[in-house]
Amino acid sequence: MNLADAIRTIPDYPKPGILFRDITTLLGNARAFRRTVDELVQPFAGRKIDKVAGIEARGFILGGAVAHQLSAGFVPIRKKGKLPHTTVGVEYALEYGVDTIEMHVDGVAAGETVLLVDDLIATGGTAVAAVQLLRQAGADVVGAAFVIDLPDLGGADRLRAVGVPLQTLVG
Ligand code: 5GP
Repeated sequence: MNLADAIRTIPDYPKPGILFRDITTLLGNARAFRRTVDELVQPFAGRKIDKVAGIEARGFILGGAVAHQLSAGFVPIRKKGKLPHTTVGVEYALEYGVDTIEMHVDGVAAGETVLLVDDLIATGGTAVAAVQLLRQAGADVVGAAFVIDLPDLGGADRLRAVGVPLQTLVG
C-alpha cells in the first residue's frame, strides 16, 4: 500500500488555484492510518520524548496517536483565542498578513523533550513558529514529523535550518 494513494487532493480548496491535500481519506483507512503513525514515530522510537506537540487541527489527530505510541504526553498548539487557560503566543507571517499560534503557559516545562507533529509542511511558517513557542517555554525540540512535505515551498529546509530534524512520509 502506498500512503500517497490514501490521500485525496481537492482542487480549488479553500481558494481557487489551491490543491488541498485532504488526509481524511487516509485517517479513514485503518491500515493507512496505522502505518502512518508507525512511520511518523519510527525515527524517534526508543528516544526520551516527554511530550508531543500537535498543531491544530489535524496535528491533534496524528499527534495524539503518536504520543500514545511513544508513551509521551500531548500538548495542543492552537490558533489564537481557543485555549481556556493563560497562554503564550507567537506571531508568524502568512502570505497576506499575520497569524498567531498559542500554547498554555504550563503546556511544557523547561527542559522537556518535545516532538512536533502536523499533517503537512508547506512554507514551514507554522512549524517554525511552533518551534519558537516551544523553545521560549524552555523545551528541547528534538524533532518534527509530518505526513506530507511540499518540498517546493521550502518548509522542511527552513525547519532543518533552525536545528530541527524531521520525518516526512509523502512528497
Ligand atoms: P505552512 O505554515 O507550512 O505554510 O503551512 C502548513 C499548515 O497549513 C499546516 O498546519 C497544514 O495543516 C496547513 N495546510 C496548508 N496546506 C494544506 C493542504 O493542502 N492540506 C492540508 N491538509 N493542510 C494544509
